[in-house]
Amino acid sequence: MAKNKVNIILMGPPGGGKGTQAKILQDRYGIIQLSTGDMLRAAVASGSEVGRQAKAVMEAGKLVSDELIIDMISQRIDQPDCQNGFILDGFPRTVPQAEALDRMLAEKGLKLAFAIEIRVPDDYIVERITGRFSCAKCGAGYHDKFQKPKKDGVCDVCGGTEFIRRADDNAETVKKRLDAYHAQTAPIIPYYGGKSILRVVDGTQSIDQVTGQLVGIVDSALVS
Ligand code: ADP
Ligand code: ADP
Ligand code: ZN
Repeated sequence: MAKNKVNIILMGPPGGGKGTQAKILQDRYGIIQLSTGDMLRAAVASGSEVGRQAKAVMEAGKLVSDELIIDMISQRIDQPDCQNGFILDGFPRTVPQAEALDRMLAEKGLKLAFAIEIRVPDDYIVERITGRFSCAKCGAGYHDKFQKPKKDGVCDVCGGTEFIRRADDNAETVKKRLDAYHAQTAPIIPYYGGKSILRVVDGTQSIDQVTGQLVGIVDSALVS
């Protein structure tokens, strides 16, 4: 398969479907999902210094410091598996992070094809987040109502039978995360609108419909 270098950002509220779609696009295009949330959860699980700093902040539904996140993502983009392109999932999450990303990409000689907003109104989010779970072995994402494993209790992807729920996926924390989203993250959407790489997809559609729209957008970057 030809190597296509496409770098995109998926934006949207917590539980909006970024991770679900990033994994689908990763499999389809061979471009890598870079989820700052997954990286932070791995750091917390490993007990590293970064994890120690991030744990309480994440559990409170607040944002981890820009500095820590920017360092983490800059190092990650330098890894060889990002050469084919990457999907930023959960980063940038503040205007300073978006500005730092622009500087970082310019220094590395890289460009963004699109910043795509998966738009989902707040009233969908509690149900999305409180129903979310994932396979403990392979990380495949599921939902109690919207994306059940084909066979109850068995992961479609790896056959694993253990599932996990995130510590921050509860109704109280969701409200704080939505507040953080509107106050700190939503302003990055007009930031990209000003650069004309912004695209918007209706995230209230089914998972397959959202994928269809995203594929249309990514394909348009590959032909041009
Ligand atoms: P994010 O990465 O934006 O926080 P996820 O991709 O983890 O969001 O999705 C949150 C939950 O909602 C998951 O349980 C997922 O299975 C489910 N989900 C994702 N997209 C949709 C959709 N379009 N319709 C219904 N449920 C969805
Ligand atoms: P969701 O998509 O459901 O909001 P994530 O997995 O992207 O969740 O993030 C989980 C938590 O990790 C966030 O609530 C925040 O505390 C922290 N986090 C993830 N990415 C960032 C970021 N780019 N900047 C600051 N904090 C972040
Ligand atoms: Zn699995």
